[in-house]
Amino acid sequence: MTRRLYWEDMYLREFDAMVVSVAGQRVVLDQTAFNPRGGGLVSDSGTLAGQRVAEVVKEGEEIYHVIELQDAMVAGTQVHGVLDWDRRYRIMKMHTAAHILSAVVNGETGALITGNQISPDESRVDFNLDDFDRDKMSHYIDKVNEAVARELEVKTFFMKREEALAAPGFVKLANAMPPSLEILRIVQIGDVDTQADGGVHVKNTREIGEVRGLRTDNKGKSNRRLYFTVQ
Ligand SMILES: [Zn+2]
Repeated sequence: MTRRLYWEDMYLREFDAMVVSVAGQRVVLDQTAFNPRGGGLVSDSGTLAGQRVAEVVKEGEEIYHVIELQDAMVAGTQVHGVLDWDRRYRIMKMHTAAHILSAVVNGETGALITGNQISPDESRVDFNLDDFDRDKMSHYIDKVNEAVARELEVKTFFMKREEALAAPGFVKLANAMPPSLEILRIVQIGDVDTQADGGVHVKNTREIGEVRGLRTDNKGKSNRRLYFTVQ
């Protein structure tokens, strides 16, 4: 299994790795700092041995780097990877903000998250909410910015599945994780949110800056979408 350097250090921008296998455009490495698409997050991009990494995808536990014009990478060779850092850092900010937004809306209304899409420029979280409009959105965004301004520390750690299921507060998401996972990665944002989560976050909410609500979209009662961005 590929060692996930992005879990050990979410601020790692460059790394060295060995090519484990190559199939067409898809390259598997022994370790990687590229966070694959998943959990609503778009994938990282960048370069590997100077070649463009268009996308990174995860199938089962295997991570595939999709190289645009792959022709030079051979199993057993060393390669250097470089992330598009500006893009990745915005994804980290957006993702952390999305967790805070989810916690705020869930705390005030009990609404559950029915979907999310985290992208560098614009992100959204979907809720099952009866009552939703622009004023409500502004109120939730204000609450998010209050939490962000408290400069909350974001911690990640690993926990046995049964212990996570027994802890109050994150049973719901632990249950949503594939049952094959014995050990869950937990992300804790101060006293605001604790979840089982495989994605990339900032270390402190102060890095997010300011969250701005962009618009709302009603896709049915179980799908109220709130679009936002970070500055
Ligand atoms: Zn997440």
